[in-house]
Amino acid sequence: MSGLFHDRASLLAAALLALTASVAYSQNAATSPAPIEYFRLFPGFVGEIKNEEGWTTAFAASNPWGQYTAYLMSTNARGQRTIRIEQYFPYPRAEGRGLQGTTMYLLEGRDRALLIDTGNPATATDNVNDLKTVVRYILARESDGSPKAKPLDFVVANTHSHGDHTGQNFRMWDRPFYYMDLDWPALAPANWVPIRAGGGPTKNGGGTAVSEIDLGDRKITTVAIPPHTPGSTGYLDAENQMLFSGDALGSAFVWVQGGPLARYLESTRRLAELTAAYPKLAVFGAHFYQYALGPRREAPINGRPGDRQYILDQAELAEGLLSGKIVGEAYEVGRELVWGTLRSAQIVYSLATMYPAGATPSPPYHAVRIPSSYPEQWQITPWQKTALGIKADFHLIRGPKGEVFHVLKGSKKTLLIGSGSGAPGLTAFVRQLVGNGPLEVALTDGDPDQSGGLSQLSSARVYAPAGAIKGRRTTPLKAGDVIDLGVDKAGRPLRLEVQGFDASSVTLLDVNDRILFAGNALGVQGADSGWTPPGGAAAYKAVLTQWRTRTDGRYDILYTARNHQWFTSPAYVDQLGQALDRVIAGGAPATDSRIKPGLKLVKSDGAADVVASVGVQP
Ligand SMILES: [Zn+2]
Ligand SMILES: [Zn+2]
Repeated sequence: MSGLFHDRASLLAAALLALTASVAYSQNAATSPAPIEYFRLFPGFVGEIKNEEGWTTAFAASNPWGQYTAYLMSTNARGQRTIRIEQYFPYPRAEGRGLQGTTMYLLEGRDRALLIDTGNPATATDNVNDLKTVVRYILARESDGSPKAKPLDFVVANTHSHGDHTGQNFRMWDRPFYYMDLDWPALAPANWVPIRAGGGPTKNGGGTAVSEIDLGDRKITTVAIPPHTPGSTGYLDAENQMLFSGDALGSAFVWVQGGPLARYLESTRRLAELTAAYPKLAVFGAHFYQYALGPRREAPINGRPGDRQYILDQAELAEGLLSGKIVGEAYEVGRELVWGTLRSAQIVYSLATMYPAGATPSPPYHAVRIPSSYPEQWQITPWQKTALGIKADFHLIRGPKGEVFHVLKGSKKTLLIGSGSGAPGLTAFVRQLVGNGPLEVALTDGDPDQSGGLSQLSSARVYAPAGAIKGRRTTPLKAGDVIDLGVDKAGRPLRLEVQGFDASSVTLLDVNDRILFAGNALGVQGADSGWTPPGGAAAYKAVLTQWRTRTDGRYDILYTARNHQWFTSPAYVDQLGQALDRVIAGGAPATDSRIKPGLKLVKSDGAADVVASVGVQP
């Protein structure tokens, strides 16, 4: 035991010494980097079979390396090689799709090699086809496959803390291992060294974060690229014009729904500046196959791998989404994720996390186009398929207080359903979405967070329940009324039926698109709604039950005034009923609301996407 500890300690000491030793190094950006061959198999490895959409479905022959294969991407003037290692593994995917791939990179220097990431949890046989054996095999072979006299040993670094890139970390306990200081876990193995752009003191590991890894005549520096994870780290090999970015920039599309998107804009802008001197920069993401997946196989992208233009496109897209110049659309996965596209860039984000927590959105409004324009066969979740039933020109808009309203455009006119809380710029924002032409507004109730925008829409006709809106002439909305917007893009009548709810509120039913606009009538979907039924649970339940006799089975999607998700299932209404019944029966366990301090909530049993919670009257 103490012997093992001693070995680890001396390994670490040697690694740190190597890092701090001054190394004669001349950075010469003018040198042209070695050409990259993305698909040249490393001798001894087996090729992939890809389907029409770009998924790998199998290996081309029986594969002694199990889930792994490797490509020799380049050899520089010093004879240092860069290898792409792929791991494919079964993953529950929609019909017809292939295996999920995750990518690692192996960089040789004069004195040691660096393995970037360790991929997924693997099905492998120890010392036969596990990741460490794969790496050792590559390092022990010349590029023609013959044995190498003096194979390099290797150190390991992670790009970020997600399990599909750290799955074999446990095998690498016997060597220096660089792990992101800002993703550091509570319990870290003894051989881990914190790494962070800029380096410096840290409370993790030995107390000092390193910022670069010297492989001998090949220096790898770090770049901070949050917020895919807080510690997301890019490894830049400036001399060879390569950036290994993990998932920080995505591999064709980046996931930054954890937010803030504003931080992603900072990251990509900084990266664009930092790499300005490297026009031939190759960017290597950690799910390499995605660069040539689905629609990206076609012109104008033609499956192009990551390059410096990709970083510029990502930065411009992030800026466009934040400023509102580019409007996102419903993403193929999830019921709240939104994505935007610009040239080679795609960003997956959420309206709820575009800005740092507590910051005021600027500009105040952001929209989602529903449904997505992505090819139908790529819409893999039930809610995305349901959203495809919407044939109207339709957007969800989120305002600065988290309030949500909608805009529905028909051939005759456009209807704003809600007008938000009144932040400036509403008219220009809506006109940017729907163009000119007649615009009317419908309000489902007197909520000031939905009538605040009316003062900016002085010429628009406003429908509202009688007496709901003070100080503005409105056209009364009552049960049985129909608002006729003409026809939708499929030529179907676009008509909204007014379904009365209670004395002061109505709901609107888009009959052919099968959407229900509930305003504030149905509370807020979620485990912490902060919502209390008006008039008490029993009285409210009676109103709900009555309303359901007229609306059940007539809609597939439900929108409320406080949910930024672009899909809420009608199953939520059942959940609401269940939570109400529990309050009425009494004795149900209550939890504390975090969004409304002091409020006790009773929850239904459903999953996160349908669960209802009801505030209990004290
Ligand atoms: Zn990730
Ligand atoms: Zn990943």
